[in-house]
Amino acid sequence: MTIALTSDQQDLAEAVAGFTARHAALAATRGAADKIAAGQPQPSWQALVGQRLQAIHLPEWAGGDGADLTELAVVLEQAAFGLFPGPLLPTAFAGQLIAEHAPEPLGRRLLPELVSGATAASAVTAAGLRAVKSGSQWRVTGESAPVLGAASARILVLGAETEAGTVWFVIDGGQRDDVEVVPAEHVDLTRDVARVRLDDLPVSAGQVLAVDLDRVRDLAAALFAAEAAGVARWCQGSGLAYAKVREQFGTAIGSFQAVKHKCARLFARSELITAAAWDAAVAHGQDREQFALAAAAAAVVTAPGAVDLALETVTLFGGIGYTWEHDVHLYWRRAMSLQSLLGPRGAWQRRLAGLSAVIDRQHDLRLADEPAGLRPWAAEILAEAAPMAPDKRRRFLAEHGLAAPHYPRPYGIAASPVAQVVITQEFERAGLAQPSTMIGEWALPTILAHGTGEQREAFVGPTLRGDIVWCQLFSEPGAGSDLASLRTRATRANGGWRLTGQKVWTSSAQEADWAICLARTDPGAPKHKGISYFLVDMRSPGVEVRPLREANGGYLFNEVFLTDVFVPDSRLVGNPGEGWRLARTTLGNERVNIATGMGRRHEMPSDYLAALGEPVPADVLAECGVLTADALAFAAMSQRLLLRQIAGSQPGAEASVLKVVHAWNVTSLRRAVLGWHGPEAATLGGPAGDAAQGYLSLPPMLIGGGTLEIQLNVIGERVLGLPR
Ligand SMILES: Cc1cc2nc3c(=O)[nH]c(=O)nc-3n(C[C@H](O)[C@H](O)[C@H](O)COP(=O)(O)OP(=O)(O)OC[C@H]3O[C@@H](n4cnc5c(N)ncnc54)[C@H](O)[C@@H]3O)c2cc1C
Repeated sequence: MTIALTSDQQDLAEAVAGFTARHAALAATRGAADKIAAGQPQPSWQALVGQRLQAIHLPEWAGGDGADLTELAVVLEQAAFGLFPGPLLPTAFAGQLIAEHAPEPLGRRLLPELVSGATAASAVTAAGLRAVKSGSQWRVTGESAPVLGAASARILVLGAETEAGTVWFVIDGGQRDDVEVVPAEHVDLTRDVARVRLDDLPVSAGQVLAVDLDRVRDLAAALFAAEAAGVARWCQGSGLAYAKVREQFGTAIGSFQAVKHKCARLFARSELITAAAWDAAVAHGQDREQFALAAAAAAVVTAPGAVDLALETVTLFGGIGYTWEHDVHLYWRRAMSLQSLLGPRGAWQRRLAGLSAVIDRQHDLRLADEPAGLRPWAAEILAEAAPMAPDKRRRFLAEHGLAAPHYPRPYGIAASPVAQVVITQEFERAGLAQPSTMIGEWALPTILAHGTGEQREAFVGPTLRGDIVWCQLFSEPGAGSDLASLRTRATRANGGWRLTGQKVWTSSAQEADWAICLARTDPGAPKHKGISYFLVDMRSPGVEVRPLREANGGYLFNEVFLTDVFVPDSRLVGNPGEGWRLARTTLGNERVNIATGMGRRHEMPSDYLAALGEPVPADVLAECGVLTADALAFAAMSQRLLLRQIAGSQPGAEASVLKVVHAWNVTSLRRAVLGWHGPEAATLGGPAGDAAQGYLSLPPMLIGGGTLEIQLNVIGERVLGLPR
């Protein structure tokens, strides 16, 4: 996936990708590396200016397109995917600062110049330059840190330290020749970097931008993130393509599970980087705090993530990936430069941790075509439901189709994705949780899709009303990940079937009324073909439930022994032998209704900070920042999936990686929390709260519903198309 979500954004992305491929062949960029390093203009820049791509975000009165930061991010991402050389990013960044913060006469003069193709660059730090007030002017002296694009820039935005903070100002026209720009050898061979030396340079009030260091850095983070997303996607895609064709030991290397899983992990990381970059760009349209939060998360996740991903891609290519001739090191270098120029990662981590302790990321979800009358109708029902006792409320909501609004009538209200969002928002507004039927959420879609009318009647309504609790009798001692090798037998009996076998790890079996159960009806058929799908009454003679105790001390799952259990024909779902196909509906239905990412606040690292007291140690803050960035990127991925569903597309690759990413994030978070509490975490229920218990309770997320290895297999084979 690219940053582009809407069809307009996708068209723009395609146009920029085509443009980059036509005008910025990497062979030409390599050939011009010395000239690029010295800041000499390249033909590709004139072509870019001809399309006004460097000015898409500048105001229309100045000749720009007045686009928002998301569209600029789309341009930057695509250009970076093709490793477009020269000063696009620095010019776009400086242009944004001038458009947002320049005093009017300065903006009036500079923005049309930028649209016409003037090159620009901005520093990201004020370190190295010192400004002293002299009457109405500043006088600035010193040598800046390396500034991306400064060698080629006609317009410079620099920051200097003052007694009270920093001052940001523009140098252009004749004054540009009064400063010394010293090109440095850049790790990124496709554009220049330089230090700027100032010797008592006078800076008038008319040159000063109304901006502070944090805002400059936030904007840089958002725009650099878009490039990092393009770099990450190129690396991920080219590594994957290589894994499909490179052969070793007589087969494509992508068929080796180590390589397949690596490709799947790189894909998930690249999707996270894209989501974080998208989120920062989108948040620019919200308030300053939201932007600061999303931008800091992007700074932590994107460029550093792209650096790691690029190195992993180098190793995926083997020796050839480490040659000068191979392009991967050019992308690796671009990512390294982006990360370094954004400043120390630790500072971003601590800033993000501090911000997230006081602000929650609020996604701004605007719905274009809300179904008329739905919102007040739902609000009225929920207001009536709110004071009821939980059992009564569940029944009441089910009767009004609000227990599972996405189900067809009469069980739900056949709510479209937009309608589901409206209803979820109304649940939130009413302070109510949407009812869950737990394992019923996997059973009911299968019954709705493949069951008889009588089965739908008997099970769907009562489950939604809370009268039936389900369990899932799939796994067996000898059939876990390889579920199709299950051995529970179902043999023909008068009017039905007799089931015998052993199931294991069955959650909630001790309280379940009914079970969905897979059993082998045709032992002679190939293993996936001989399985059937039954609904088993858990109170039938021959069903014995034996509780198992989990490692965390709880009692969730059980062994279930089936001895000659009679199941009538009316409780077979679909036809005999269709069980495997139906099971895939069940397994794929781990709550695919649109509320998945909504209305559920995932645990955040900041939730755990309060228990630590003040002051929070710097290393804990930094770790908290990393974890927060991952959590926000995950939330952004969920939000993108939701927006795509609202726009009418089926859940795509993002849905497959969400589960894996969630498992990674929760594992890292709970592991970290355990460490933050020191000796206290050796106790249960002490000041460390649930730190140890939380960690002990991770495995259900890592094993249940398919282990992480199985999920990575699915991503590798079904999403990425690697050989089985
Ligand atoms: C808390 C909890 C609740 C559960 N609830 C239910 C339930 O209600 N109903 C139900 O039917 N089941 C339930 N399960 C079972 C769950 O679906 C299985 O545990 C899971 O599918 C793994 O099977 P297994 O335990 O036999 O492990 P195995 O399949 O034996 O796996 C052992 C290890 O080998 C790895 N492995 C196996 N095959 C491959 C492969 N092809 N490639 C790479 N690695 C592989 C696995 O990733 C794992 O690390 C539950 C499990 C847990 C932990």
